[in-house]
Amino acid sequence: MTTVAALAAPSATEPLIRTTVERRELGPHDVLIDIKYAGICHSDIHTVRGDWGPVPYPLTPGHEIAGIVAAVGSEVTTRKVGDRVGVGCLVNSCRECEQCLAGQEQDCLNGSVGTYASKDRDGTITQGGYSSQVVVNDAFTLLIPDSLELDVAAPLLCAGITTYSPLRRWGAGPGKKVAVIGLGGLGHMAVQLAHALGAEVTVLSQSLKKQEDGLKLGADHYYATSDETTFQDLKGSFDLIINTVSAKIPLDDYLRLVKPHGAMVCVGAPGEPLELNIFSLIGGAKALAGSNIGGIPETQEMLDFCAEHGIGAQIEVIDADQVNDAYERVLASDVRYRFVIDVSTIG
Ligand code: NAP
Ligand code: ZN
Repeated sequence: MTTVAALAAPSATEPLIRTTVERRELGPHDVLIDIKYAGICHSDIHTVRGDWGPVPYPLTPGHEIAGIVAAVGSEVTTRKVGDRVGVGCLVNSCRECEQCLAGQEQDCLNGSVGTYASKDRDGTITQGGYSSQVVVNDAFTLLIPDSLELDVAAPLLCAGITTYSPLRRWGAGPGKKVAVIGLGGLGHMAVQLAHALGAEVTVLSQSLKKQEDGLKLGADHYYATSDETTFQDLKGSFDLIINTVSAKIPLDDYLRLVKPHGAMVCVGAPGEPLELNIFSLIGGAKALAGSNIGGIPETQEMLDFCAEHGIGAQIEVIDADQVNDAYERVLASDVRYRFVIDVSTIG
């Protein structure tokens, strides 16, 4: 075991503190990564604060990891020292089931292993990317294209793939009208990706405060959901709505904005249940779906797509001392549009 510098939450209610975590010795298929940047995803906050249920403490979050390969195990052929790599929300899966073989490791029938707060196949609890180094099986590392800086690439490993995957699955492209609810970390990626895929993009935000940014990111239209007329004006407008909101929203109101035979996909994951009147789906034969990050092959495809289209996250780089303030700003929807920790400031 190697001891490395990390930030960790001692409990659901205390601030994150500087500490250390243990990393396993390099196995034959492992890669040791010197982490350079780690994005702060709203899921880190939900997890640390117990919104989704009990978790083990101390807990080091972080599943938007970008860094450089420092060492490789004896059997590793696909990665070499010096490679620019990323790690997202997954660090292991069975690799034998139907889902894993289809490149949908996040849906592993035998249970995928999350980058933190998850029991790995060796029985240890995983600890995430707010730390100076991590050891990961090579199959769960992604290559970051040279044209993407590591800091703007880090958030792509979760916010990027979580929005790219449903946009692709539900056919965002030329001739399609796509709305994105919430212009935060996921939302600002959804806008850029849907625009690059050729869709006509509308942002549905709580206010018009971020309108200028939204239009610059590629949105064609921008509406405030605090304005009642938005829900009248946009009735039946969208082929696809991507809901990135971290809190409970009135699903029925938003489903009225979906065209007949269109779909609303929820990626936002509040701890409390959302209410639904089933007639919101029956009238117009609409679909309501969810989506969970994306598999490893699709994550690589997304990174290559971002490089090809010059897409990265809009970030505010912070040092370790600012992480607890950053959490409060994310909770207050005061993020433009992803906080990224400069990991060199942890140790
Ligand atoms: P974020 O940066 O905080 O963005 C969420 C946005 O939602 C906010 O910027 C805000 O946008 C809007 N919002 C927040 N509270 C709201 C409220 N009470 N009513 C209406 N709108 C509200 O968070 P994120 O990192 O993008 O993550 C968003 C959600 O996705 C979280 O629940 C996270 O856990 C989840 N997530 C899911 C997956 C998955 O695989 N499904 C992956 C990653 C994250 P405006 O200011 O524009 O209104
Ligand atoms: Zn995330």
